[in-house]
Amino acid sequence: MFGRKTYQSSRSSPQPPKPRHQKPVLDLKTVRRHQKREEKRIKELEKGLKEQRLGLYLHIPFCKSKCAYCDFYSLAGHEPRMDAYLNALTANIREMATAAAGRMVDTVYIGGGTPSFFGEKRLKALIKVVTKSFVLDKDLEFTVECNPESVTLPLIKTLYKLGVNRISLGMQSAQDAELKAVGRPHTFEQVQKAVELIRKAKIDNLSLDLIYGLPEQSMEHWKQNVEAALALYPEHLSLYALTLEEGTPLWKSKEAGRVTLANDDELADRYLWAVDRLKAAGYEQYEISNFCRPGHPSRHNLKYWRGEEYVGLGPAAHSDYGGCRYSYVPNLEAYIDGMMSGKPIVEESEQIPEKERAREYLMLRLRTVEGICSQEYSRFRMSFVPIEEQLHRFAAEGWAVQEGGRWHFTPKGFLLSNTLIGSILDAQEADMMKHSAVSLRNS
Ligand code: SF4
Repeated sequence: MFGRKTYQSSRSSPQPPKPRHQKPVLDLKTVRRHQKREEKRIKELEKGLKEQRLGLYLHIPFCKSKCAYCDFYSLAGHEPRMDAYLNALTANIREMATAAAGRMVDTVYIGGGTPSFFGEKRLKALIKVVTKSFVLDKDLEFTVECNPESVTLPLIKTLYKLGVNRISLGMQSAQDAELKAVGRPHTFEQVQKAVELIRKAKIDNLSLDLIYGLPEQSMEHWKQNVEAALALYPEHLSLYALTLEEGTPLWKSKEAGRVTLANDDELADRYLWAVDRLKAAGYEQYEISNFCRPGHPSRHNLKYWRGEEYVGLGPAAHSDYGGCRYSYVPNLEAYIDGMMSGKPIVEESEQIPEKERAREYLMLRLRTVEGICSQEYSRFRMSFVPIEEQLHRFAAEGWAVQEGGRWHFTPKGFLLSNTLIGSILDAQEADMMKHSAVSLRNS
């Protein structure tokens, strides 16, 4: 429409010829200079785009059995659909790699569900598709989640040969009674054996997950669990509080009074004891629930907390890519069908406005020990003053500290993080409202 109008107007009122003596606005030299400058700018843009590294998550929604507390999208008893799923996920990987052409992937995370239950042959095929389809960084962090009962030496050796350099193992407890109480399909002996095999296969970056607050778990047992995990020398440890998700078998047992769980004070004691113990053992806390030996944080998970881009493939997988956040349908059959027949598989999607990014910056970064600072926050063109006022208030209570110009919560602050972050977001909102009211009155 716009182009047509311009064309019509230039035809109806032709421009008078320029006087002969007038110098052309751009001579050949100037044109070449402009061209070179433009080429340089395009190259820099392309370089910048390639330098923005991408995280890739692949969801394997199969488990041997369903744990009593689990509300992740994972399925037990669906092994006959594994091959069909592999085909669908392969198609999704190729499609995404084409869309992300030129973007370098620096972290790959195969999670679940239980990826090690997917089988050596399928995992091998899957990893080959990833390595062939995406441009991978030389310094790639490649993690595969495993459950102890499905770890075998051939499997881990194969993963290692294909470039996997990090295993995240679902240990959860060192007490068989605790594992049994929540339906975990393994024993502690199997955890020890799995770690032995992982090390034998030369994987030198191992993460163990532990849960505190399991039914049957006393403080003494929790201490034994942490000590047992430390004795396995993992590079990384994740400590999660048991959360009671509505509708899970554990939630039903609790409702029926068949199980008693630790209260908030008991959970807090366990958390704070573990934070001190891990510090004494040489582990750095870098996020509310995550600890590592120096130089071994999960680079993939840091992307989530830093608000960096990642794409997730598979049913229920989430992505934050190209300014848009979206998730795929949490249904195995709908996902397979969608991928193979071209039907839509996106369940939800939204463009994230700048104001929401500013909220997320506070919510996600305050989960980490890296924390927040006024300089980074200035990109949202909002005032850091009301946020800092809250942080000073928290510092007086021992819940936050400022180090090297950055603010972060202390372990005691992490325990209250939901409430503290809520206060900070309220202060941010109030400041935004104040300024919009001022601008309204001034306009
Ligand atoms: S193994 Fe993990 S994903 Fe599977 S049911 Fe248990 S907690 Fe859920």
